[in-house]
Amino acid sequence: MSIYCPSCKSTHVITRDLGRKVGGTTGVVAGTVTGTAGALGGAKAGAIIGSIGGPVGASIGSIAGAIWGGLVGGTAGGIAGAKLGEELDSKVLINYECKHCGHRFRI
Ligand SMILES: [Zn+2]
Repeated sequence: MSIYCPSCKSTHVITRDLGRKVGGTTGVVAGTVTGTAGALGGAKAGAIIGSIGGPVGASIGSIAGAIWGGLVGGTAGGIAGAKLGEELDSKVLINYECKHCGHRFRI
């Protein structure tokens, strides 16, 4: 489906995706913060599991647990944030911009 500029009828229209960008970034940050809290728990669990392999295993286990917690939190937050941003783009924000006349509009 092609989108026309309501002002000059040009088809030179781009999506701005502002909400998705902001939402994605915010989500990653929020998710990483939450994930970091989870990472501390992950580090503890990793240290316990790793301690089977001695002191070296415990350090490797806690590092792996911390990374895992941060990664999972960050990724999940990013996905949720991007999804939310997408909703914002399509329902709330003015998401289209005409490259021909600069008119911004929403559908
Ligand atoms: Zn236009």
